[in-house]
Amino acid sequence: MNGSLPTAPHTIEDWVKGYESDGKLRGFRCGACQLVLATWGLACPRCGSPGLEEQELSGKGAVVAFTILTVPGDEFLNEAPYAYVVVELDGGGRITGWMPSVRQESDLALGERVHFAPSYRPGVQFSKDSDAPAGG
Ligand SMILES: [Zn+2]
Repeated sequence: MNGSLPTAPHTIEDWVKGYESDGKLRGFRCGACQLVLATWGLACPRCGSPGLEEQELSGKGAVVAFTILTVPGDEFLNEAPYAYVVVELDGGGRITGWMPSVRQESDLALGERVHFAPSYRPGVQFSKDSDAPAGG
């Protein structure tokens, strides 16, 4: 490829797999304006700079939006219903994930504290801070 488009340091697939391999959330910080991003992008959505640097994100945050999904994609066929959530992470960045423990709207509230809970299941899974750890 000899185009002039900025290139990414790795593929989206690598990035998603990274969640599952080491249990850390990865995001990006704009070198120009310091905006922290949790979403994939080739350039900063605020200032347009292509100089995004990879940065580890906090695994803790608060729910800013969610919806209950009852018709899942193939990967989540056995998990429905579950909540698709948008989490504002401590330290910056908004990330989308899912919460298998939430099965109806009354199970979750906006602003509720959640944390990244790596599991064998696909995607970025969150649990409520108020949920007791399993098997404790
Ligand atoms: Zn920027």
